[in-house]
Amino acid sequence: MLPEQRPLYEEETFRLEGLSDIDGFYHHFTIRPDMMDRKKIIRVKQVHSDKILVVDRKTFDLDLFRNSRIFNNGYDALITNQDDIILEIRTADCLPILIIDPDNRAIAAVHAGWRGSLLNLPVKVVMKMKEFFGSEEEELIVGFGPSIGPCCYEVGDDVLEPVRERHPEWKDIIEERDKGKGMFDLEGLNRRQFLDLGIRKDRIFSVNICTSCHPVRLPSYRRDGKVAGNIYSGIMMEMV
Ligand SMILES: [Zn+2]
Repeated sequence: MLPEQRPLYEEETFRLEGLSDIDGFYHHFTIRPDMMDRKKIIRVKQVHSDKILVVDRKTFDLDLFRNSRIFNNGYDALITNQDDIILEIRTADCLPILIIDPDNRAIAAVHAGWRGSLLNLPVKVVMKMKEFFGSEEEELIVGFGPSIGPCCYEVGDDVLEPVRERHPEWKDIIEERDKGKGMFDLEGLNRRQFLDLGIRKDRIFSVNICTSCHPVRLPSYRRDGKVAGNIYSGIMMEMV
């Protein structure tokens, strides 16, 4: 039986049943940065790129790594097959994506704004998981956290034009309004990319929460500007 696609609600933290049901994996989307053990977190500078950091070393010195320049290079996705490491993504309207490969024991955390999505970042992350960990598309489980929804995400030609150019079916992900304006379905674009890759529809889950209009005041850059704060999305494999 398939799990229902509804979020478990605990104050300002959201989890997806479809991901929580898998033994040995932990995840959350939260506005409380103290939810996680800081010593275990891998947090990088995010730069709206398609760059992916692979954390694949067994003897991984987190402190050394944290202090190294690699963190300042900028990445928008993290993947690992290591236990007890929290991959973290910070967002405020952009789409946080968490991926689990239960068979090969690998995880990913992805920061997908419109730029990264148009650079096919979700596709590149899955390709990287295949390359490094032997992941198979049909085995992957994908979770979307809170992001700005098509209800609130009005975009102009700077987004409309590249979407039209790169996605022939763009009318499914942008509802045109006045000339040069449209309502953009960021999660829809990412969902489409995963489906096109061969990820199973019944393995894609979403909290279905818009950061801009959800009744619990979530960080929204579009609504509040730079003071918005962050949603912290974390994923970890427990030690076996
Ligand atoms: Zn909304």
